Amino acid sequence: MIQALLTIDDIASKNTPAIVDYLKEKGIQALLFAWGQNVERNWDEAVYALKRGMIVGNHSYSHPAFSSLSFEAGVAEIERCEALLAELYRSAGVERRYRPFRFPYGDKGGASKAAFQAYLAEKGFNKVKDTGIPYPWWRESGLDRDIDTFWTYDFAEYNLRPGSDFTEADIWRRMRDANPGSGAPLLAEGGRHILLLHAHDETEAMLPGYYRLFIDHLLEKGVTFIKPEFFERER
Ligand SMILES: [Zn+2]
Repeated sequence: MIQALLTIDDIASKNTPAIVDYLKEKGIQALLFAWGQNVERNWDEAVYALKRGMIVGNHSYSHPAFSSLSFEAGVAEIERCEALLAELYRSAGVERRYRPFRFPYGDKGGASKAAFQAYLAEKGFNKVKDTGIPYPWWRESGLDRDIDTFWTYDFAEYNLRPGSDFTEADIWRRMRDANPGSGAPLLAEGGRHILLLHAHDETEAMLPGYYRLFIDHLLEKGVTFIKPEFFERER
């Protein structure tokens, strides 16, 4: 059996409602990470996702590399997105039960890494339940203890850009790769994944319905999508 939790970054986009409709059709509840500025630009699309049962977490306001910021500037980025998400949930009429966080680019803040983890814990951010992830490097890298939500597999589809050497064939090759340079093999028996996909309108323009192509393929391969679950935190 292969199990996967789907996470989708950088919402919201014009394409977000179409992605959400597809996920609903397939019975998949995803964890969406909000880039604050994109939520401001595409407010109704973000509300749409919440109203249809997706969970929306914090991915910072302006999507900076946290290692390039002071600790205080990083906290300000998180809190500005937090305020937007509180308003977004109110606007959608949905109770906000969980507050997961993901660092842009998976950049955990360099020299301030420990301070950011302590901040996330103190402020009651929710850690995704990742106890079933079987890869030794997950624990060796401390990802089983970090509060932020990392991933085990990155589709890398955001690399599809006009003029880029990266092609759709590269995405399929990565999906079949039994020994990837980073992360864990996607289709190996016994896998348990946190999948990273993005909601970029630019990708939709390059490869229409890209999310549907990839997820349909995983469903055909027997991958079971699991609901996001979190460790409860003391508040
Ligand atoms: Zn991002």
